Amino acid sequence: MLYGARNSLVIALLAVLLSTTLGTAAGLLAGFLGGWWDTVIMRLGDMQLAFPFILLAIIVLGVLPDRNAFHLILVLGIPGWILYARVVRSRVLAERSKDYVTAAKAIGANRMRQMVKYVLPSIWQVVVVIAMLDFGFLILLEATLSFLGFGLTPPTPSWGGILAEGRRNMTIAPWLSIMPGLAIMFTVLAINLTADGAADIFDPKLKRGVFRRIRQSFSPAAYVSDRVPNDDVSEAPSLSASQFLEVRDLSVSFPLEGRVVHAVRQVSFTLERGRALGIVGESGSGKSVTASAIIQLIDPPGRVTHGEILFEGRDLTRASNEDMAKLRGKSIGMIFQNPTTSLNPVLSIGAQMIETIHVHRKVSSAEARELATRALMDVGIGDPRGVLSRYPFQLSGGMNQRVMIALAMLAQPELLIADEPTTALDVTTQAQILEQLHDLIRERHTALILITHDIALVSEYTDYVVVLYAGQVCESGPVDAVIHTPHHPYTQALIASMPRADLQSDQRLRTIPGELPGATDVLIGCPFAPRCAYAMEICTRVNPPLKAVERERQAACHLETLPAAKEESL
Ligand code: SF4
Repeated sequence: MLYGARNSLVIALLAVLLSTTLGTAAGLLAGFLGGWWDTVIMRLGDMQLAFPFILLAIIVLGVLPDRNAFHLILVLGIPGWILYARVVRSRVLAERSKDYVTAAKAIGANRMRQMVKYVLPSIWQVVVVIAMLDFGFLILLEATLSFLGFGLTPPTPSWGGILAEGRRNMTIAPWLSIMPGLAIMFTVLAINLTADGAADIFDPKLKRGVFRRIRQSFSPAAYVSDRVPNDDVSEAPSLSASQFLEVRDLSVSFPLEGRVVHAVRQVSFTLERGRALGIVGESGSGKSVTASAIIQLIDPPGRVTHGEILFEGRDLTRASNEDMAKLRGKSIGMIFQNPTTSLNPVLSIGAQMIETIHVHRKVSSAEARELATRALMDVGIGDPRGVLSRYPFQLSGGMNQRVMIALAMLAQPELLIADEPTTALDVTTQAQILEQLHDLIRERHTALILITHDIALVSEYTDYVVVLYAGQVCESGPVDAVIHTPHHPYTQALIASMPRADLQSDQRLRTIPGELPGATDVLIGCPFAPRCAYAMEICTRVNPPLKAVERERQAACHLETLPAAKEESL
């Protein structure tokens, strides 16, 4: 059986190599060159797929008087090309329109160079994974053909041939069939598991396979926060009748390459019904993760590791998926950053809006259409019926974002989370959309959480602000007070870097020197210390706690807790 294994494995392996080489070359040519290359290659593939593969193999092998490994490699390997050609072609079509390929053309790379140096490195990973799965399949196929008597000519052994021989002696020596059967089963299982692991390794975005799930689990010690807890009970926010959202000590972490990324650390804030709160900070400060945690849409394997999110007195971190599904859309709406990718590209705007209405309300299709029309009019769309019949790609970015707002407001949620809702739009459209959103939420008494990196937007459209840095709250309070008398050096720097109309031509807009700490950096002391003009020795050792600095205002800075240091710095 060990001797036979050599034939089974070598035949399957060489057949896979043949299929991979032929299919990848054909897919690259069809996808990259297009035109008649694409037509001819794909039609040949269609014709081949129309003919039963096993039947073809049996006919070809049946007419050969003396079958050897070479014959089997050709019969198993050649027909498999179309599988690779189709996958490679579709990936090439997606890749060749990307900016990095256009940039390669712009620097003068010829077609062959674009294909081999730019496109192929982006797609080979998927080919390797398919080839590994195909390897297991061809071992089974070779065994099937040998079992049917169309494999290697006896006495050359292979697992399928041994299985067929054992079948004749099944009653007196069953192990003759059982052993090669088990060998085939365990080999194919091992190959499939290896392919799964290879997919995890080659594509970091897919690191959720069997092996990774085990490695990336959290240990209780994995979550450690270095921020000094605020033990002054009088300063801890408490839930009053009007505060319908309270986020308390929220921490969110993601496992990454065996380490833990603390994306959000001990974030606390409250929001009253019908009021607007801005969460502001640079990219990577934890704003969007905080928003995703509120609506419980954190991408696995990330998760809330600490804290509570009390929505109308109920802790959302403990809510079941079913309960959250009932709340999403109906009680908590969300507007995402990029409307072009957030709307379903293959459904018309009307179909998406009517579907959303049907999820939350039992109304007829005609009524749902009427509700959708009114919702589009509410966000300033002049031709709502025309927009309902169009697809997202037929609308401009501004129009798509208006549709997203209309979708989020369809069920009249009590809380709306807008995650950078106008980042991708020009300034004029941005102002129009934010005005409409502002009017809509005031009219319906909807509470708003506006996530943005632009502190100017927060000052204009919200009542309260929370400034985040490296996943921590630096400062929070009523927006006017924070903008006019910022306590935290980071808030001061953000405000100083706001574009202003009164800036003289000889004055330069100020920027914040340095960068945010890396996602996996171990933070010791105040995370803003490397960029802070007021940093002191204690800042490099102790992460300052969030302390009340005025009524309704909090800041996390040693300058606030060490009055002498503040005097000196001023
Ligand atoms: Fe700057 Fe120190 Fe305050 Fe951090 S704690 S913001 S480093 S002064």
